[in-house]
Amino acid sequence: MSKVYLRDGRAPIPKDARTSATMSRIRSRNTGPERMMRAALSAEGIRGYRLNWKKAPGRPDIAWPKRKVAVFVHGCFWHLCPHCQRNAPKRNSMWWKKKLAANQARDQRKLRELRKDGWRAVTVWECQLKKDTPGQVARVLRLLDQ
Ligand SMILES: [Zn+2]
Repeated sequence: MSKVYLRDGRAPIPKDARTSATMSRIRSRNTGPERMMRAALSAEGIRGYRLNWKKAPGRPDIAWPKRKVAVFVHGCFWHLCPHCQRNAPKRNSMWWKKKLAANQARDQRKLRELRKDGWRAVTVWECQLKKDTPGQVARVLRLLDQ
């Protein structure tokens, strides 16, 4: 059964409710953590950013093109968060490991491409954002102030 999924590249149907909820919540571009970050920036009066700026390498979630500052806001599950080390779902674990490792490799490539192009970029993790929103906003501010 898993071979079928591997062939067409679609995600296996999650059996456990938590994975299913995570997947449906995080599938869209306008994700929870991203909205949270934007709300936090607005609260600080920080504006002028573009979302998913196409002209920047890797299409960062939040970008200030003139200042070449980019922010990626990553959901812990999909991007293999180094802080919470959540394991891949047990069902179809090989598929998941491959999928999530590919996501991680893509994230790293995007950062490299941006930096090569003279951008300063920061990755904000969902769990860190929830734990300390002002701290994460401060990381972005430091880049904007430079
Ligand atoms: Zn995390």
